[in-house]
Amino acid sequence: MSEEYRQMWTDLGLDLEAHDALLEALGKGYQDIYLSQENRPQGMQYFDFVMSEVHGLRVKELIDAQKQGRKVIGSFCVFVPEELILAIDGISVGLCTGAEFGFAEAEKVLPRNTCALIKSAFGFGMTKVCPYMEASDMIVGENTCDGKKKSYEVFKDVVKDLYVMDIPQMKSDSGKELLRSEYLKFKEKLEQLSGRRITVDDLRKGIETVNAKRRAVHRISELRNADPVPISGMDALLINQVYFYDDPQRFTESVNKIADELEERIKEKKGVSAEKTPRILISGCPMAVPNWKLPWIIETNNAAIVGEESCVGERGTRFLTDSEGSTVDDLMDNIVDRYFNIDCAIFTPNQSRTEHILEMYDKYRADGVIHYSLQFCQPYQIESGPVESTLEDKGIPVMRIETDYSQEDAGQLRTRVEAFVERLKG
Ligand code: SF4
Ligand code: SF4
Repeated sequence: MSEEYRQMWTDLGLDLEAHDALLEALGKGYQDIYLSQENRPQGMQYFDFVMSEVHGLRVKELIDAQKQGRKVIGSFCVFVPEELILAIDGISVGLCTGAEFGFAEAEKVLPRNTCALIKSAFGFGMTKVCPYMEASDMIVGENTCDGKKKSYEVFKDVVKDLYVMDIPQMKSDSGKELLRSEYLKFKEKLEQLSGRRITVDDLRKGIETVNAKRRAVHRISELRNADPVPISGMDALLINQVYFYDDPQRFTESVNKIADELEERIKEKKGVSAEKTPRILISGCPMAVPNWKLPWIIETNNAAIVGEESCVGERGTRFLTDSEGSTVDDLMDNIVDRYFNIDCAIFTPNQSRTEHILEMYDKYRADGVIHYSLQFCQPYQIESGPVESTLEDKGIPVMRIETDYSQEDAGQLRTRVEAFVERLKG
């Protein structure tokens, strides 16, 4: 990385030594896991570039935008509406939560039995290695699971300007009213921060920009039902991960280009793996960069991942926001309607998530489902039981995996995945 970036990281207050160690591990992981794949679509070169510049060029773009008066909003959850952030001409960035880094620091303030995703956010924040966290003008937390809800009480001392919004836990009328009032408060907060009142045109433009991103990833998803699959699950996951912090227009164009390329590949019957390779749907906790362990184990075990029922995947992107309406209130209602559909496991009951898993299983012609939960993630771990029994009752092979961000269980996971893939072949 150039000297210019080192100065930028110093100005952001990063711990350069720890940050160098993180970048080295990230670069090596990417090389071993991503660049070793064969038959990748050419369009993935854009994502290789994005990853090589993830703490460089993109961060510089954010800082340049701030110099022009734009605001950067960091967040951890798909309940934070990007449409509203774009409506103040802000930039939305997903924050680093996918690596086991700074856990010793995190465990000084959190119980050890906190999920890796939360510990990762604290680890990155406390060891000062996340340029996105440091560059954010405001970080948005959300009262989703108990772990996040309670940890934000501590996290407010780790980062500057933490704003916490409440999120309902039931799909009831009062739950929807709560979401509406929280989104209205969030809108006001963004207006205050930016000094700009959101107009109907601003909001419609924000909605259309995010919908375009969603439509582009929908195209990729739909093309994954071909056999042989034209893109690996690893690469599809990367696209879904980069979704959270790339420039929206550039991301949409790049993904649409890949979708065009995949259409050609399908015509030529060109895939990343052979026809009839066992097809797996992954369902469960979100996988943030650089949490690639399980997909990598699956796809290096002669199986193809054909879909992700995850917030870094279809749970996060499947619904569009209606852009019809003549007032800001109309469009706010559309945003509330759209986000209230998200079937995160923090909701009770949450039957629609299982229905969506079944729908995806059929749509992507999967042979089996791997349910992935992070250790100590109660919502997804508890929900994995009913999900498993519903799927098994329908004769769908399913395997439940609980893991974390370490490599300690990689050997054991490989053995289990291998046995599952053999079962699917049978
Ligand atoms: S799993 Fe739930 S808490 Fe996590 S990002 Fe998704 S919606 Fe938010
Ligand atoms: S992985 Fe589970 S416990 Fe961790 S933040 Fe997400 S919902 Fe909460």
